[in-house]
Amino acid sequence: MATLSSRTETVNDILKHDQKGKIMATYVWIDAVGETRSKCRTLPEQEYTPDNLPVWNFDGSSTDQAPGDNSDVFLRPCAVFPDPFRCSPNIIVLSECWGADGTPNKFNFRHECAKVMEAYADHEPWFGLEQEYTILGNDDRPFGWPVGGFPAPQGPYYCGVGSGKVFMRDLVECHYKACLYADIKISGTNAEVMPGQWEFQVGPCEGIEMGDHLWVARYFLARIAEDLGVKVSWHPKPIRGDWNGQGLHSNFSSKEMRVEGGMKHIEDAIKKLEPHHLECIKEYGEDNDLRLTGRHETGSIDQFTWGVANRGTSIRIPREAAAKGYGYFEDRRPASNADPYRVTKVLMTSIFGKL
Ligand code: ADP
Ligand code: MN
Ligand code: MN
Ligand code: MN
Repeated sequence: MATLSSRTETVNDILKHDQKGKIMATYVWIDAVGETRSKCRTLPEQEYTPDNLPVWNFDGSSTDQAPGDNSDVFLRPCAVFPDPFRCSPNIIVLSECWGADGTPNKFNFRHECAKVMEAYADHEPWFGLEQEYTILGNDDRPFGWPVGGFPAPQGPYYCGVGSGKVFMRDLVECHYKACLYADIKISGTNAEVMPGQWEFQVGPCEGIEMGDHLWVARYFLARIAEDLGVKVSWHPKPIRGDWNGQGLHSNFSSKEMRVEGGMKHIEDAIKKLEPHHLECIKEYGEDNDLRLTGRHETGSIDQFTWGVANRGTSIRIPREAAAKGYGYFEDRRPASNADPYRVTKVLMTSIFGKL
């Protein structure tokens, strides 16, 4: 595989040099179209938390996040992780975007989500998100697909092993390790139904931590893909036709659902979600109508349905939870390009009420 980076021996030697008591802090934020952006700065070496890190800024007119005549967007640190690329003591600083007038940027969905999570913290909300994505080559087609043609129909690829069945396992392996190094609560990974398509899971995470960990995991994936000369598609239907789309299945439980008698709370929550179906769909990502067709293991976008172990519904109660009488449920509606802050917030407000 040809890659765009060319690490010579000299480059590798220099990258190992001592940093002389300084660290590199990579500030990461979410832009106007749901991609991550980043820039770096030097800081003295010490322990960092969101509270002792400097607020920074960027030119929001270059990211469509602010007008040219009032372009400064402020970066307020909200979570810190070890940097898996440069290694400790260097850090990744996830940041919220704020305007100069002290209001959250239009694309800052974390701020309101955090308020909801705090208000309902007593319920100890746990989330586990399944991030599906597709690796694209420079021709913007799934990596590994034959030039000018199509691979054999779906079947051998899901959890597949072997040449011609899965592509770019190196990227997946590297991403998994990067997440573990950075203390991201990644819980697993698998090859998906369409060739070139993969999934990783993050969770269980409590409250606001869910969105934070998923966004940083997305940043890592895009960053490693950059090194390998490939792209990541988060679009819910990267290839039209008889190919699976991709979602961000969102597993949820409250404290009450995780103990004996929990099924009653799970069923109550599903009943609460039903009348909020359209409101939820609005928060669940762009172009989701191309994916939620009722085919390819999805429920229809127009209808709220649920069932035990059924993958053609909006909500699935896992077989194991049904058998035990407690556990969690899975909302299968969110698209792969959904913002986890929006998804987790609307789940909470639908079930427990708006603030
Ligand atoms: P699927 O069978 O739908 O492919 P996965 O194994 O990919 O399921 O993902 C299941 C997700 O559910 C994981 O992210 C896991 O962390 C999460 N999960 C497990 N238990 C709970 C729970 N009690 N509450 C919320 N999420 C949970
Ligand atoms: Mn899964
Ligand atoms: Mn999946
Ligand atoms: Mn799932």
